[in-house]
Amino acid sequence: MKECPFCLEEVEGSAIECRHCGKRLNTGEAAILSIQRRRERHKAYYEEAKKYLIKTSLALLVLIILVIVGKAILGYYQSSYSRKTRSHCETASVHCDSECTSKTNPNTCYYTCMEAVGCR
Ligand SMILES: [Zn+2]
Repeated sequence: MKECPFCLEEVEGSAIECRHCGKRLNTGEAAILSIQRRRERHKAYYEEAKKYLIKTSLALLVLIILVIVGKAILGYYQSSYSRKTRSHCETASVHCDSECTSKTNPNTCYYTCMEAVGCR
């Protein structure tokens, strides 16, 4: 099967005349027209491919930026959280230490105290 360059209908590969529009397919005009059609189609195909590629790389770029920004934000909150936790437990440690030094079992007291404030 091939395509009639005049009416774009499908015709037999060996056809000399298009059965749809009746034009002759073995003329120079038909050959030139069919080459032009093929070029147009290739051009359209490459335009589509280019658009698709641009869209895809843009989407990828946006995704990468989102991941980077997301990681930065997450990292910031995590580090600020662990900073808070660390300073909280440092304070708690001093507090528990002073609370427990006078107790009969200072070590157990200290650990229980630290556990109570979530620092163990
Ligand atoms: Zn035709």
